[in-house]
Amino acid sequence: YHERLRSRIQRSVSMAFTDALTGLYNRRYLTTHLDRKLMDIALSGKPVAVAMFDVDHFKEVNDTHGHGVGDEILKGLARIVGENLRSVDLVARYGGEEFVIVMPETRGEQAKEIAERLRGCVAEATFQPDALNEPLPVTISIGAAATSDPEEMAEDILNRADEALYAAKNQGRNTVVLDSEMEQTST
Ligand code: GH3
Ligand code: MG
Ligand code: MG
Repeated sequence: YHERLRSRIQRSVSMAFTDALTGLYNRRYLTTHLDRKLMDIALSGKPVAVAMFDVDHFKEVNDTHGHGVGDEILKGLARIVGENLRSVDLVARYGGEEFVIVMPETRGEQAKEIAERLRGCVAEATFQPDALNEPLPVTISIGAAATSDPEEMAEDILNRADEALYAAKNQGRNTVVLDSEMEQTST
């Protein structure tokens, strides 16, 4: 009885923290984890970086091939990302086709290199949905940001990564932008 209870509790705990489609951590877990890592900066003095990425023209994939094919792409993407990150990095599904990677002890330039490598892996990977005869080309755009400020909250650094992601989309997609390298717009 206790064994069954234990495994049932474990299942509901993992359901609360993970995304059913991809098996990645969910948004709630991500923000909690990121806030904790940001607080650690006060002790370690080491920077924390995040990379936010979004599938390019994903609506077109759904519209042309159906939602099921879109879901398969998301699952394939989650696997590729998981296989290409360091063990200290954490990846989560942040929204529908948006993902976030938290990279502890990582400076902006390093984060950009990691993101660039990941972007290349995805662009070169073969996505072969079951329902299609031909593989689908898939690319992602990535916005990265880093901080050494323990006062910064998850929401703040995620907003900066989101702005960099927006810039990456504007630069033509399949691109990485680091927020500190962005043109400063006058206010
Ligand atoms: P962009 O390059 O600017 O990102 O273009 P996009 O078409 O990817 O962007 P947009 O935000 O217009 O579309 C996102 C699409 O992602 C729309 C929505 O139907 C799809 N989507 C979101 N979540 C899921 C999901 O869980 N499964 C599937 N199959 N599609 C999803
Ligand atoms: Mg999107
Ligand atoms: Mg998209």
